[in-house]
Amino acid sequence: MNLTPLDRCPLCRGREIRLFKKGTFDPQAIGAADFRITDSHYGSRWTLFSCRDCAFVFANPVPDGEAIAGFYAALEDEEYSQEDEGRGRNFAVILRRLGRFAPPGSPLLDVGAASGIFLNLARGAGYEVAGIEPSARLVADAERLYGLKLFLGSAGQYPAGRAFAVVTLLDVLEHVTDADAFLGTLERLLAPGGMLVIVTPDIGSLAARMMGGRWWHYRAAHVNFFNRRSLDRLLAAHGFAVILRKRFAWNFSAYYLLTRLLPFLKGGALQRPLKKLHLKLQLFDSWEIYARKTEK
Ligand SMILES: [Zn+2]
Repeated sequence: MNLTPLDRCPLCRGREIRLFKKGTFDPQAIGAADFRITDSHYGSRWTLFSCRDCAFVFANPVPDGEAIAGFYAALEDEEYSQEDEGRGRNFAVILRRLGRFAPPGSPLLDVGAASGIFLNLARGAGYEVAGIEPSARLVADAERLYGLKLFLGSAGQYPAGRAFAVVTLLDVLEHVTDADAFLGTLERLLAPGGMLVIVTPDIGSLAARMMGGRWWHYRAAHVNFFNRRSLDRLLAAHGFAVILRKRFAWNFSAYYLLTRLLPFLKGGALQRPLKKLHLKLQLFDSWEIYARKTEK
């Protein structure tokens, strides 16, 4: 994999950048398996730098976007699709809030749609749905599980010509090597006045600061991290006005959480009762942002 050293912040181009946390793995030794959504190697991270001016935290040297796209294309993640009930609860909350700004019936595009859990719920709520997903396996899962036909590829490859009232980025922004260029790509897919919904880890959260290097959002798939200031800056630079800001609490089954910690429990007799037991992880260490596209 090619790695490019950066001498300035990729978000604000500021020159005052410094080491934030040293990396924990050899970038040449990682592969598609390290990019699974359900990867449980918490604490794994690229060497991260932070920007003094905008507080953005980013992998430096930055891994090659093409190589990472290749990992996602080859991604297989059976566990993710099995955890649809817990994730569905999180997504139902988002749909309820979104309804205040973009009513059901609006065309909605989910970028990084995975196996279609969110889109299936959005369709059920009345939205006219479309999705983009780079993993062929997850695209096939979405069709098999929900009858959804996702676009296989990246947002940059998505055919232009259609403007959506809503674009959702649910745990996507932290995976993108050039978040600034990525938002530029999305601008053409959003209608004027359209809504952008972002869920992304908050590196300024109490949990992130207290857990230090063991924070569960440190993983090979996460190449950048935002806090309130850097996220606001990114959105403002692309003509978005934040209209609602929430802290997002992930909701998982006890089975999912326990098997993250104790992988040998997978598939055992406890599977059924534990999957039924839903816990809300009250860490509030992600942002859930609703932003409207305005004229620049
Ligand atoms: Zn910066």
